[in-house]
Amino acid sequence: MMTCVDGKTYLNRINRLGNNVWIDGKPVSGNISDHPAFSGVMSSQAKLYDLQRQPDLLDSLTFISSKTGQRVPMSYLEPKSKADLSRRSLAFQIRARYHGGMMGRSPDYMNTVVMAFAACAEFFGNPKGIENMRRYYDFCQGNDISLTHTFINPQTNRSAIHFDNADDPIAARMIAQNDQGIVIHGARLLATQGGITDEIMVFPTGAFHFDQGYAYAFCIPSNTPGLKFLSRESFDYGKSIFDHPLGARFEETDSIVVFDHVIVPWDRVFLHGDTETASKLYSESGFIPHQVHHVTSKNIVKIEFILGIIQSMIDSINIGEYQHIQEKTAKVIISLETLKALLTAAETHASLDRWGTMTPDRKPLLAAMNIFPRIYPRLIEIIQLIGASGLVSIPGAKDFSSAQGADLRKYLQGTDRDGYEKVKLFRLAWDLSLSAFAGRQTLYERFFFGDPVRLAGTLYREYDRAEYVTRIKEFLAEKNE
Ligand SMILES: Cc1cc2nc3c(=O)[nH]c(=O)nc-3n(C[C@H](O)[C@H](O)[C@H](O)COP(=O)(O)OP(=O)(O)OC[C@H]3O[C@@H](n4cnc5c(N)ncnc54)[C@H](O)[C@@H]3O)c2cc1C
Repeated sequence: MMTCVDGKTYLNRINRLGNNVWIDGKPVSGNISDHPAFSGVMSSQAKLYDLQRQPDLLDSLTFISSKTGQRVPMSYLEPKSKADLSRRSLAFQIRARYHGGMMGRSPDYMNTVVMAFAACAEFFGNPKGIENMRRYYDFCQGNDISLTHTFINPQTNRSAIHFDNADDPIAARMIAQNDQGIVIHGARLLATQGGITDEIMVFPTGAFHFDQGYAYAFCIPSNTPGLKFLSRESFDYGKSIFDHPLGARFEETDSIVVFDHVIVPWDRVFLHGDTETASKLYSESGFIPHQVHHVTSKNIVKIEFILGIIQSMIDSINIGEYQHIQEKTAKVIISLETLKALLTAAETHASLDRWGTMTPDRKPLLAAMNIFPRIYPRLIEIIQLIGASGLVSIPGAKDFSSAQGADLRKYLQGTDRDGYEKVKLFRLAWDLSLSAFAGRQTLYERFFFGDPVRLAGTLYREYDRAEYVTRIKEFLAEKNE
């Protein structure tokens, strides 16, 4: 028995929802999976759903739920042992190989977030919220639901002493409660894949806010009345996979999310009005270790993908003998091994948390979460430095099939391949380092975990250094005999 849905079911489900999505000044009408801005990524998302039903991958990507006896995605497995954690990271990596780590909202990411919050549901502190969170986990798992999330407020005024207008807020605020649920009005910024998922998770920003109106956590269907997704322009230009090897497949648009008096039914509310719990939701719940465990697994695959591209470029123009090329490649290798070591350390030193979930060690994961946003832009710069003009000498598929094709194959040939194959490789490197898709990927990796400056602050606050201070005290206490 399976509850893992296939790609077709995912596509039909989202099409049927008829989510209120706007792009290029117009609402999306008809099947959203046919819209040029979304068709590429939705087809890739569908392939990810199909992957988990592939017979040879079934045992790696799914497990049998003890509750329902059905096969569900591995990302829903609440880990009880270190072996469970390894099963999870292996599944994340197998899936990430399909997209080279380019899809931040591959469904296993949000499944992990739902699992993490359900496993520590008691953290929500109110009996109804606890029950709702657990029930929501069962619902998502039982129906293999796709989700997006929005955790941050619009960038209107980031001063610490800024107050929004409570009656006509910009940042989405709980403006009322009634017998149906809580009423949310205002906007959230932003949701990657907003509008092309079944559901959306809307959780607090994590910053302390005195106003109870901002202390809420809920999940609702993407087609809830009053909910709108305002998408940025798409960087999928409808080109072939040869021309835009990444953008044509993995372009996850980002949306501003607008709530126009949206009613969130009570059974979907996990938290409301509790400012203290809202401010500690990320730092003290099981969210961060499981989220970063997932993302670090994905990021390892992303660096492997980059390394594969870099080595192929080096081979194709025969520059491996130069020391600076070796040094730059070594930087990529060191980054890869660093992340792999941090993931291994997090799993090896995992322990049961207070809710009985086997939780990866936070310390190496906090290090990984601080390192990756800093090294990713450098890895992309290395691709540019190695590729040089090869990254712009990249005629498209139409040029190759034109009367000039023979010249292009000849004059753009590399050491080990003809012009067509070399350009195919360099177009991939371009789409990872120079295109609009590439620019958005770099911004995404810089900010995905949050503002890197404040992330470093979290590490500073959380990392226990008392023992080392004591050691220095003892060292300084030594006297001349
Ligand atoms: C491509 C992309 C996709 C994203 N997808 C999602 C998504 O799907 N869901 C989601 O919830 N979020 C998403 N995000 C948002 C991401 O979590 C935020 O970008 C990140 O948390 C930083 O917040 P901000 O963008 O509002 O920047 P801001 O907080 O506005 O920061 C802007 C600048 O001001 C500085 N600054 C602001 N406040 C402070 C302060 N208190 N102390 C020190 N410096 C400060 C920052 O360091 C930064 O340099 C996405 C972001 C990007 C770029």
